[in-house]
Amino acid sequence: MKVAIIGAGIGGLTAAALLQQQGHTVKVFEKNSNVDEIGAGIGIGDNVLKKLGQHDLAKGIKNAGQNLTSLAVLDDKGNTLTVANLKSSTLNVTLPRQTLIELIQSYIHGEVIYTNHKVTTIDNNNDKVTVHFEQADSEDFDLCIGADGLHSKVRQVVNPDSKVLYEGYTCFRGMVDDIQLAHPQCGKEYWGRKGRVGIVPLLDNQAYWFITINAKEHDVKYQTFGKPHLQAYFNHFPNEVREVLDKQSETGILLHDIYDLKPLKSFVYGRTILLGDAAHATTPNMGQGAGQAMEDAIVLTNCLETYDFEEALQRYNKLRVKHTKKVILRSRKIGKIAQYHNRLLVTMRNKVMKLLPNGIASAQTKFLFKAKDK
Ligand SMILES: Cc1cc2nc3c(=O)[nH]c(=O)nc-3n(C[C@H](O)[C@H](O)[C@H](O)COP(=O)(O)OP(=O)(O)OC[C@H]3O[C@@H](n4cnc5c(N)ncnc54)[C@H](O)[C@@H]3O)c2cc1C
Repeated sequence: MKVAIIGAGIGGLTAAALLQQQGHTVKVFEKNSNVDEIGAGIGIGDNVLKKLGQHDLAKGIKNAGQNLTSLAVLDDKGNTLTVANLKSSTLNVTLPRQTLIELIQSYIHGEVIYTNHKVTTIDNNNDKVTVHFEQADSEDFDLCIGADGLHSKVRQVVNPDSKVLYEGYTCFRGMVDDIQLAHPQCGKEYWGRKGRVGIVPLLDNQAYWFITINAKEHDVKYQTFGKPHLQAYFNHFPNEVREVLDKQSETGILLHDIYDLKPLKSFVYGRTILLGDAAHATTPNMGQGAGQAMEDAIVLTNCLETYDFEEALQRYNKLRVKHTKKVILRSRKIGKIAQYHNRLLVTMRNKVMKLLPNGIASAQTKFLFKAKDK
């Protein structure tokens, strides 16, 4: 089968690697001139690694990543609100986004990634799908996979009513080297009224951090924020936060407003399907953006191997729509609670979190492991 994959992000590249291995002819079209664009860090949980099974990519991710053994939420004075100790039998790996992209790319053979290929529209017909580009000739395929991210062009064509929702906060991200964290296998979030600071260990004394602040969409106030502003803004946070921000270089700080997608009812539209953020963009609160995109690719490949074409797409739809809706809604809810600003609400939230048994947080993610893979 001849497959067009629109977007060379984590989802599109994983689909390319797995489908190519299954014998399909794949072409990946990326609008940018570069694939390994800079990001900060990414978490890949055991839910994904188990689904990859014996594939070498799973081994590659395990080798390149730092395994976390716990996740902790603290207040802005450093008091622990809750800790989730992750099972020793599960892996929860963190790695730089760029490393993950390069790793996945190393399993794609031949010159099949076409950069500077911006897709403008597609024509979805019964027997073929035609992909049109801004500056290249159109081409016909048996299957088109829209893996073109949150603001997907492919989704806009097949489902013009889909809605991207701004969730009320913006996110700064960065990566630091040469940092000695007190707990190098624990991902931490410090929740305060001014915002939330996450610090996540990577291998080799690196770490990535994120800061989420309640803000208007495209808030100009924060677009000019650099390292000194963040340092001043979070100066009252614990030492660890200040140390990480001190280590951050003046450049290389990313800023993205946080959106998710109103859950779609279908990811399959004739010979065109949606995958990754294009299908189910979620807030980053569960660290599942990249993981769910990779799961889509794994499930799609398994289904195409097991069922005939149409049945495979329907099975993919059935398995992924409901599951990822849960991720979107749960992650959105966590974000709302984590971003509380009102003093009374914050005090109440923190009291409740301290009282709850530690297992509650990990129980919230149990469903991730129950998703079927074909
Ligand atoms: C530059 C960048 C940095 C990121 N950094 C982080 C991070 O540090 N931490 C984190 O948790 N998440 C980060 N994310 C988000 C995270 O990678 C995704 O949420 C997740 O991996 C799902 O990936 P995806 O492949 O579905 O979509 P994406 O990663 O968004 O990839 C979509 C790809 O499609 C391309 N594209 C879009 N429109 C078109 C078009 N019309 N024609 C052709 N190509 C098109 C885009 O350029 C992009 O390469 C980042 C995303 C990007 C794009």
